[in-house]
Amino acid sequence: MTEPARSPGETRIVDLRSDTVTRPGRAMRAAMAAAEVGDDVYGEDPTVNRLEHECASLLGMEAALFVPSGTQSNLAALLAHCDRGDEYVAGQDAHTYRFEGGGAAAFGGIQPQPLPFQDDGTLDLDEVAAAIKPDDYHFAKTKLVCLENTQGGKPIGPAYFATVQTFAHEHGLRVHLDGARLFNAVVALGCSARDFGQYCDSVSVCLSKGLGAPAGSVLCGRSGFVDAARRWRKVLGGGMRQAGVLAAAGLYALTHNIERLAEDHRRANILVEGLRGIGLPAEQHTNMVFVRGRDKDAMIAHMKSRNVRVSGSRWVVHMDVTDDDIRHVIDIARALS
Ligand SMILES: *Cc1c(COP(=O)(O)O)cnc(C)c1O
Repeated sequence: MTEPARSPGETRIVDLRSDTVTRPGRAMRAAMAAAEVGDDVYGEDPTVNRLEHECASLLGMEAALFVPSGTQSNLAALLAHCDRGDEYVAGQDAHTYRFEGGGAAAFGGIQPQPLPFQDDGTLDLDEVAAAIKPDDYHFAKTKLVCLENTQGGKPIGPAYFATVQTFAHEHGLRVHLDGARLFNAVVALGCSARDFGQYCDSVSVCLSKGLGAPAGSVLCGRSGFVDAARRWRKVLGGGMRQAGVLAAAGLYALTHNIERLAEDHRRANILVEGLRGIGLPAEQHTNMVFVRGRDKDAMIAHMKSRNVRVSGSRWVVHMDVTDDDIRHVIDIARALS
């Protein structure tokens, strides 16, 4: 059961800016306090080792690496897959290209080749094929395709990843999946994380989004790849010591908070229906609702004046949002329609 996220007396603020705003509840904190720990840079933190083992097995992959953030997870993956002068193909709006400070170029000399996402969040493989550079020293070496799931909240089914794997084998490319919200796709589509892991060379999952842990991501792949990424994690400053206190939150999240993502999807559906009902055009993808055609700043200001935080047209439902909160949000959004 969801625990109260606010202390008594605290002003009730509904925060829909992102699913990163969740706060660990009592049971997760108890798991953190009870964690057995050791020095993870020496590989001696039993809780981190357990989290890595469980994640690898959930994704059906050989090995896994616990990292402080999703950004570092993707960067370590890019650095492990690519050398200087190599290239990765990614969506124009992909997190790995647009929202990670150009880290792959800044730290790895790795060039991005952005392509537009299609409406369903996939990359068109004909466009990817056309973007692959010939083997000629005028060009960067195209090494990797980076995909995202969910993409803008849209869940992409395993069949697409099967096609991508075949394509990648034909063209000598590897496939990295930024699965920051992969479990939202798993729950929405009723499949398993392995259904995706089997088609990818590496997968990064966030524990700190809808799963509700305070920090941490896990990067999964073959053991040689994870060894290389572990080296890069240290170089990037991500080697933590008694990180078991954080890994314990991640283990708690994997055990208790995957299935409950369906609750977020259900509430996002009530929200989108409610907004449409009051004449506001909106779309829902898993735990995200996109409000269309309204002035962003006016919307942020109005909602804020009634204790609802949004950062623009994307309103994100997460474990600290209740049915009452959703009713309140719809009620005050009336003034926007
Ligand atoms: C949040 C997110 C990340 C990385 O997140 P951090 O904030 O660095 O943990 C990566 N990819 C996607 C798609 C994300 O939404």
